[in-house]
Amino acid sequence: MIVANGLVALPGEGTYRRASIRVRGELVAEIGSSLVPEPGEESIDAAGLVVLPGAVDPHVHFDEPGFTHREDFLHGTAEAAKGGVTTVIDMPCTSMPPVTTVAALESKLGAIRGKALVDYALYGGVSGREVEASLGSGDAPGAMAELAGRVVGFKCYFISGMESFTRVTHDDFARVVAEGERLGRPILLHAEDLDYVTAATARLKAARGAARPEWSDYCDSRPEAAELVAVASALQLARGREASLHVVHVGTAAAARLVAAAGASCETCAHYLAFGREDFDALGAALKTAPVVKSRAERELLWGLLASGSIGFVASDHAPAPASEKETGNVWTAYGGIPGTGTMLVYLYSEGLAAGRLSLPRFLDAIGGAASRRYGLASRKGSIEAGKDADLVLLDPEGRTRIEGERLLSKGRITPFEGMELSGRIAATYLRGRLVYDAARFDSASREAGSGLPGIVSEPGTGRFLTWGYR
Ligand SMILES: [Zn+2]
Repeated sequence: MIVANGLVALPGEGTYRRASIRVRGELVAEIGSSLVPEPGEESIDAAGLVVLPGAVDPHVHFDEPGFTHREDFLHGTAEAAKGGVTTVIDMPCTSMPPVTTVAALESKLGAIRGKALVDYALYGGVSGREVEASLGSGDAPGAMAELAGRVVGFKCYFISGMESFTRVTHDDFARVVAEGERLGRPILLHAEDLDYVTAATARLKAARGAARPEWSDYCDSRPEAAELVAVASALQLARGREASLHVVHVGTAAAARLVAAAGASCETCAHYLAFGREDFDALGAALKTAPVVKSRAERELLWGLLASGSIGFVASDHAPAPASEKETGNVWTAYGGIPGTGTMLVYLYSEGLAAGRLSLPRFLDAIGGAASRRYGLASRKGSIEAGKDADLVLLDPEGRTRIEGERLLSKGRITPFEGMELSGRIAATYLRGRLVYDAARFDSASREAGSGLPGIVSEPGTGRFLTWGYR
């Protein structure tokens, strides 16, 4: 197959190159300006379209098995494919049992087998209650060592709202980072300070008394300082091993600066780039995440840090929930999490690249280049290069995307991006040379009732389980 005459985004190049891409089997075979189809070779006309590498979303919660009323692998990966994401990395904490042991990993792989529409890797987890079992002792390897060959990192929390996956202490964390370094796997940290958030939450609830709590209460319980204190602690605890530390979903610019200065890595999410706490008045629970979005003034600072590379990449933190859990009418009990894997790429294209906030090389790093390197997948993922997987997204730069929750393929339809108009429109997504999502069929199928997953043209199960060093 040849994807002919597109505007191809190639690694390290400052502008698109008008070129054709020859795909053989699952791989990009060659890229050139004058490729001629061989007899019987299919040619896809990409003239006028931008050809991007399939995005890597390194932070999703697809909740299977265990919490599939919120999301599952079929709908999560369908939403990813529609949004141009061809690789997802799923978190260990929001499925049951959490992926803290090899047995739990096997159970998860069994539950999702035959369902994924895009490629996927997994993180292992270290829950506070199981730290000793995760670390092992002297001659007996722990669960981290047993999992390392099959996961691309380990997640832990300084603060957790989950009974089934509890936070680690500072002492635990220092030992977990040392083990991560020994195993050659990044340690991913949810960095908000437990002491700060617990005390502020109690104070704010008491001050409100019997009166109805406001969104400002939730925001004030998890301010910039709670993130800064946690990140500063983590960097001290990881001292000398900062390269093994990755801070997830950073929403505070000063925290990202600390991370970068110390030689650790971090990600931000589209919602921290797009919204501020001022937006809760209009959006309410649709905007609730943890960490919460900060003041609107943080947004341009985060964009600047993403542009400079201090923030390495963007993740969705996709974690939807049904209306029954989101719209509880109480800021404290509303589910904290939003869908995002399907809206991340077009948002970054429109507001990052097209708006001039990101150069083409930084945009390509932000959507997958940097994450694929961080998580050991760069031999085949993250860029359009001969020898790598033919994960390609065709995007119409003249098209527009209007985000509508009812048209998401995710199980979760409540999004703070509702109604947002963006430049660019994803026309097609290819996974390893196979068409997965076709916008033309989405448009026709979604006009008919009960069409399942409109626009999805490949079979569930075509997604492949990837491990560190994927070859
Ligand atoms: Zn998350």
